Amino acid sequence: MICEAQPQFHVRSLPAGVEGFVRVQGGVHVAIERTTCNLGGSRAWFLCPTCNRRCAILYPVKCRICLGLNYASEHEGKLDRLLRKAIMHRAMHGQSKGGIAPAFPSKPKLMRWHTYFKARKQAEVFERKVIEGFRSQITGRSA
Ligand SMILES: [Zn+2]
Repeated sequence: MICEAQPQFHVRSLPAGVEGFVRVQGGVHVAIERTTCNLGGSRAWFLCPTCNRRCAILYPVKCRICLGLNYASEHEGKLDRLLRKAIMHRAMHGQSKGGIAPAFPSKPKLMRWHTYFKARKQAEVFERKVIEGFRSQITGRSA
């Protein structure tokens, strides 16, 4: 099962500075552990009631490992990963929809030209691989 589709309880939804235990769905008490951050402060974690593993998200009473959940990206094939990377590059330049079909977005106002061309070149490499991969799937020939 995919964990993104399951009901989740995030540690960041807890009030700041919470210590000890919290009561979650079903009246189960879950321990909170704190780790210190490098730049000061601390970060809260749930301790999974089943395996005692530190985790930031419960589903809703056990951790991802105990329930045998995995991420949607673990089910992606090579082409799906390349397509997601290509779309992510475009999203960094402000494109929110349309996938890789429209022209590459123009340079954001405050971005340097060197940075823009470097990122655009990387995105075009991913996009070319995606197009060649899908083309070879359709035609049955490898590029
Ligand atoms: Zn667990």
